[in-house]
Amino acid sequence: MDKQTEYVLRAIEERDIRFIRLWFTDVLGFLKSVAIAPAELEGAFEEGIGFDGSAIEGFARIYESDMVAHPDPATFQVLPWRSHDAGGGTARMFCDITLPDGSPSYADPRYVLKRSLQKAADLGFTVYTHPEIEFFLLEKGTTPNGEPIPVDSSGYFDHVVSSTGSDFRRQAITTLEQMGISVEFSHHETAPGQQEIDLRYADALSMADNIMTFRVVVKEVAEQAGIRASFMPKPFSDYAGSGMHTHMSLFTGDTNAFYDAGEDYRLSKTAEHFIAGVLRHSEEITAVTNQWVNSYKRLAFMGGEAPSYVCWGRNNRSALIRVPLYKPNKGSSARFELRSIDPACNPYLAYALIINAGLAGVEGEYELPEEAEDDVWSLTERERQALGIRPLPRNLDEAIRAMENSELAIDTLGEHVHEFFLRNKRAEFNEYRAQVTPMELSRYLPLL
Ligand code: GLU
Ligand code: MG
Ligand code: MG
Repeated sequence: MDKQTEYVLRAIEERDIRFIRLWFTDVLGFLKSVAIAPAELEGAFEEGIGFDGSAIEGFARIYESDMVAHPDPATFQVLPWRSHDAGGGTARMFCDITLPDGSPSYADPRYVLKRSLQKAADLGFTVYTHPEIEFFLLEKGTTPNGEPIPVDSSGYFDHVVSSTGSDFRRQAITTLEQMGISVEFSHHETAPGQQEIDLRYADALSMADNIMTFRVVVKEVAEQAGIRASFMPKPFSDYAGSGMHTHMSLFTGDTNAFYDAGEDYRLSKTAEHFIAGVLRHSEEITAVTNQWVNSYKRLAFMGGEAPSYVCWGRNNRSALIRVPLYKPNKGSSARFELRSIDPACNPYLAYALIINAGLAGVEGEYELPEEAEDDVWSLTERERQALGIRPLPRNLDEAIRAMENSELAIDTLGEHVHEFFLRNKRAEFNEYRAQVTPMELSRYLPLL
């Protein structure tokens, strides 16, 4: 038995744990959980826990439905909001999913990401990420016509004395830190009720696990406060939506491979090639980084600081990729920020695709295009064309089409996930496209 497994078994006894939740994620990014008793844990470590994969979104074909969840002892954490329960607390571990013969499941998003990280490792790199996660705090009910009600009417960086938002952020951050997730910044975002919490950078696999945990913690803390938290990318027509800007850098050992002291913005050739890769493949991966019909309403909202065009810029907030200003006190920090990705994605699949797109750039030594110096929103269509600036997919349908024949997406996700994902998303878009919306009724009925 390895040290980590021993540690978990001891912690279960010492910390009086009554239930252990085994967590994993379906293809669309929803968390799944099965609770086991402490007596079952040793067996779970040895053989895993079997379940019916055909009942999990995207997991298995009906004729090969048996799957096995293997808890990863490195991810053991006690759930702070259940630690005072009478009769003992609850802990969780993330799982890797295998088929009954022990081979990794082709449908497990965690495995998809592990494959990309292995590819990075083969090239000598570790991947670090740091997400800025935005979300809304809403009242429990809705307006009579079904619209959400934000808990406050504050704006960007507003300081409000004992507000629901600041109490909430304090409680959420305390809970995250109790679970080993460090928080770097938090503040009120621009829209009413909108919050942002930025996690301290970690390796990409831990971060994808952390994002899954983050969503649970934020929902749980909101529930306790009698309100609702939502990661829906664009709940209001008139306000900016919620993004999950992700900063990324590659390391070789302890050295930031994106840093080059000889360059203005301290960006190395590796960084340039990686960014060029993400740009070149950005349309192909957007169906995953922005996976809902609603995600595209955020990307279309002019002035909301979400990107609509494929370009990069130094400190340019209208660009898909922003390279932050170099701060001398940050040592050899160098990174880029991808601004399209939203907090309702499957973080394992999204990170896997971003990483493989970047690595394709590194391997193929893609040339970084000219940076966009203007606010690309304010250019005319013709000016953008002259600069070679392409639009990001404008809706889920365009994103699906860009992903359909993408070798990068098929390679990264594997055929099964690629096919399931597209089938599921086509169905979502077809349902959407047949809707008659309130906007059409109010505009056309009086006229036509
Ligand atoms: N809410 C904006 C978005 O949808 C981002 C605002 C910011 O720059 O943090 O991406
Ligand atoms: Mg923000
Ligand atoms: Mg940002």
